[in-house]
Amino acid sequence: MTQPLLRATGLARSFGGVYAVDGVDLRVDAGRTLGVIGPNGAGKSTLFNLVSGQLPADRGEILLDGRRIDRLSPHRRARLGVAIVFQSARTFHGMTVLENAMVGAHATTRAGFAAAAFRLPVHRREERMIASRAREAVVRVGLEAWADRPAELLPLGQQRALQVARALCAEPRLLLLDEPASGLRAAEREQLSLLIEQLRADGLTMMLIEHDVAMVSRLADRVTVLDLGHVIAEGTPDEIRRDPRVVSAYIGTEAA
Ligand code: ADP
Ligand code: MG
Repeated sequence: MTQPLLRATGLARSFGGVYAVDGVDLRVDAGRTLGVIGPNGAGKSTLFNLVSGQLPADRGEILLDGRRIDRLSPHRRARLGVAIVFQSARTFHGMTVLENAMVGAHATTRAGFAAAAFRLPVHRREERMIASRAREAVVRVGLEAWADRPAELLPLGQQRALQVARALCAEPRLLLLDEPASGLRAAEREQLSLLIEQLRADGLTMMLIEHDVAMVSRLADRVTVLDLGHVIAEGTPDEIRRDPRVVSAYIGTEAA
């Protein structure tokens, strides 16, 4: 068996003595997409924050391509290729679409995210390199016509695409998407699904939190089901949809 791009073992994190994530093991192979489903409060976002480093784990190990990353800062993990689109991520108002995407590239540079968000001057050559990466990312998510327009004018679906562009700008090896489709209308969900499908076809490794089992089944190679901080099932989308524990804990009567 080849080494997975991401492996987590025994990951745990509590808040005030209550475990949000409790002994989670998972693996994501290079070029694959892992769907993560589970009821509200199951620990999905906490799991992503443990992987990206926003939260330190109480216990457990995280390996990226065989290298321990669980003690590294979010910035160091970003530089090693972990990018995250947070649940309900926002675009920066008063900045263009291109400038918003550039913030993602700054996450991996020395000048850093704060410099970008507050528009501090950085080295001009670095700035040009970042601008060209940002433009590529904006094109890749289909927002080139919007590149120089204020980000706050984008419809919600395209704001989500912009957040993906911002993450892509960091040239990730692993992209974590936390409910990117939440609150979107059917046509916008379809657009976003097509974008994720394209990234998958390009060989990007992803983890995707999404409520809609049909959407996860379409976009993921494997699915992990969390409930109360535990993995209650793991398998292909077909296996997951047929798993009685999943049906009772999560899918309920919708699966019928
Ligand atoms: P999900 O994303 O699956 O809906 P979360 O990971 O957001 O679940 O939350 C899992 C549990 O951890 C919930 O009970 C939530 O209230 C708790 N939790 C998450 N983040 C925090 C925090 N920063 N402080 C306290 N409790 C938290
Ligand atoms: Mg969540």
